[in-house]
Formats: sequence, C-alpha cells, structure tokens
Amino acid sequence: MELYQRCSKCYRHNYLAKGDCAWYRKEGQEAMKTGHDSMSLFECNTSKELIVRLKQDVDLVQSMTELARNRGIEAGSFVAIGALKRARLGYYDQKNHEYREIKIDSPHEMASCVGNISLKDGKPFVHVHVVLADEKGNAMGGHLSEGIVFAAEVHLCQLEGLRLERKYDEATGLSLWNV
Ligand code: ZN
Repeated sequence: MELYQRCSKCYRHNYLAKGDCAWYRKEGQEAMKTGHDSMSLFECNTSKELIVRLKQDVDLVQSMTELARNRGIEAGSFVAIGALKRARLGYYDQKNHEYREIKIDSPHEMASCVGNISLKDGKPFVHVHVVLADEKGNAMGGHLSEGIVFAAEVHLCQLEGLRLERKYDEATGLSLWNV
C-alpha cells in the first residue's frame, strides 16, 4: 500500500515519500512564499459530530455557548439553518475598532449561519455569523450577538488536536485565534 500525505509546505499536493511535494520543490518555493506568510495553519481531527435542534425562544448564541461549556467542547465549528424571531447583529467598524449594532425586530429566515468554538479567558467561546432573509428574500447579515430562535437545526463538529485560544490582537482590536 502506498501512503500519500499532504505536503507540509503547500498543504495541497500529496507526496509519496518523506519531504515536500514535487510541485513545491520545482516551482512552489518562490510562489508559496506569500502563501506561507499569509496564514498559520493547524491540522486537527474531528472527534465527534453533534446534531442539535434548538427550542423556540432560546437565544442561539447563548444556547450554543452553554452546549459547548456543558460538553467541554473547546474547539469546533458549526452550521445552522432555520428561522429567527428577532436578532441583534454586529457590524465591526474597522477604523474605530468598535461594533455597531443592527437590531432586527421581525421574523427572518436564517438562510445561513456559521460559527466556531474556541477558548476565550479559558472558557469555551462561541463566535457566530449569520445571513438573514426577509419576506421578500432580501438578505442582510453580520456578526450575531443575539438570535431568538423560531426553529434551528445545527450540525456541530467537535475538533481535537489543537488548543485554540483567543488573544487580543492590536492590529484589529479583536480577540483572535492564537494560531
Ligand atoms: Zn464576528
């Protein structure tokens, strides 16, 4: 059996033996310079997947936070669809480093909702973004601060193999991952 692994430099091309892939050795070293400096990357495993239905009138952000804390999920990601009765979104003002609040007081479809779980101040912390659609199908979206559930179906992946912690980042004014 031949064992292929992902190139540790480009993360895309597979290589057969120890070392980096042929693409990286031939052409990639120059091309990937920017790429290598443009991100930090960790490989981790999915340890468990959870299927969750949230009940009416709970706050999605709070419920997902409680779920993560109760089950000791320190790293993970999730997607959800459904509908919200009302919501508070955040738009981050990149110049002044502060969130502006957008209040939505009417029912909306939760056309898309993605979130992640990591540690902040040593405790599981949930970060959620959402796209909401109104009765005409018009969409708006942003950082979800509060979302009162009408119906919500969640698929959560628990990750293992990394300690994902949020630390204050001077350049953005946000608490970002320490990777
Ligand atoms: Zn956000």
